[in-house]
Amino acid sequence: MRLLMLGPPGSGKGTHGVRLADDYGVVHISSGDVLRAAIAGDTRLAGYVARGDLVPDDVLFKLLVPIMERAVAKTGGFIADGFPRTLAQAERAYREIGIDRHLKLDAVVSLDVPDDVLVRRMLDRAQQQGRADDTLEVIQHRLAVYCAETYPLIEYFRERGILLPVNGNQPPDDVYADIKEALDQRVTK
Ligand code: ADP
Repeated sequence: MRLLMLGPPGSGKGTHGVRLADDYGVVHISSGDVLRAAIAGDTRLAGYVARGDLVPDDVLFKLLVPIMERAVAKTGGFIADGFPRTLAQAERAYREIGIDRHLKLDAVVSLDVPDDVLVRRMLDRAQQQGRADDTLEVIQHRLAVYCAETYPLIEYFRERGILLPVNGNQPPDDVYADIKEALDQRVTK
């Protein structure tokens, strides 16, 4: 199973990505988790993430390419969460990693959630997890970055016929059931 999870910050890509990886026996790769693990001692990198800006593609690819390659070698698949996040990253992932070239994607799961719900979820998460980028100001900036940089990917993957839009504004088990149903229909088609 090779999937991309697409959706605004707070839409549940991570929650459902982990569960899908477990179900299908592939590796869940969260670009945000990879970056958060790499920022210790790297103040420049930490700055991008704390501000809610995208880190430069060279930094991202240097970290992610070996992880993606290991995942494919080990399990033949992956659930990529938070990556690619721009058209430029999608094109570079096609060239450098083979994503959707020889590593054909089964689907791109796109989680749809209204902005006011996203903001509320991230502010709640801030109280539980204390993520430095879950402040109102940074959340609003991350949503704006999503709109400008990531949203165009929805159309990009829709045109390729692999987009699976799912309503992410439901209880988690219902979202997951919808994802599975959409995937079952696609994979057995
Ligand atoms: P969210 O989707 O809730 O914003 P993530 O954990 O996916 O959370 O990302 C957190 C931060 O990590 C982003 O705001 C950005 O700074 C950085 N980041 C994650 N993925 C990428 C990416 N593909 N390209 C550039 N920066 C990224």
